[in-house]
Amino acid sequence: MKMLKEKIAAEGIVLNENVLKVDSFLNHQIDPVLMAAIGKEFALLFKAEKITKILTLESSGIAPSVMAGLELGVPVVFARKRKSLTLTEELYTADVYSFTKKESNTIAVSMKHLSKEDHVLIIDDFLANGQAALGLCRIAEGSGAKVAGIGIVIEKAFQEGGELLRNSGYRVESLAEISSLAGGSAVFKEEAKI
Ligand code: 5GP
Repeated sequence: MKMLKEKIAAEGIVLNENVLKVDSFLNHQIDPVLMAAIGKEFALLFKAEKITKILTLESSGIAPSVMAGLELGVPVVFARKRKSLTLTEELYTADVYSFTKKESNTIAVSMKHLSKEDHVLIIDDFLANGQAALGLCRIAEGSGAKVAGIGIVIEKAFQEGGELLRNSGYRVESLAEISSLAGGSAVFKEEAKI
């Protein structure tokens, strides 16, 4: 997605060869115009999948998910990372090792928001080793729902998550694929030329 790649090239900060900081438009401050375009792109990619619900992880997955939910006309559920006093219902949970925090968290979704009739689109901001997305898949599948696809804003293709998820049979669509951060700037994977 051209607009996203240009934004990453202009404003992304390479913290080290594995971590990209994009907190001027996605992870802290949010660019609503870019988010709206991202929502349209995800809706186009997954429009044939009869999506009934979007599932994401707080907090950075919420903005792109809401815009995709608006386009597809479906609700957005975000898994919580912290136990909340208001989360009193029965929960679907999964343990997820966090790439950025280097610790394991239990993520949770109230059972009332997912059912076996759902066709779930999972959306997240980044794909690194795939643990967050796999945790979300486990939560969706725990409810009996079908995972119809996984939409990722930025995939770091040099890490193992993409292969892990695709080899597990999931359809993964990434809007920007980075093949390397090694030289201090993001190098994008060549798109197939038709
Ligand atoms: P994974 O579970 O695929 O290893 O990592 C994905 C999660 O870690 C995402 O939800 C995202 O929050 C965080 N993450 C992974 N890599 C990066 C990165 O390079 N930059 C930022 N800002 N977050 C990342």
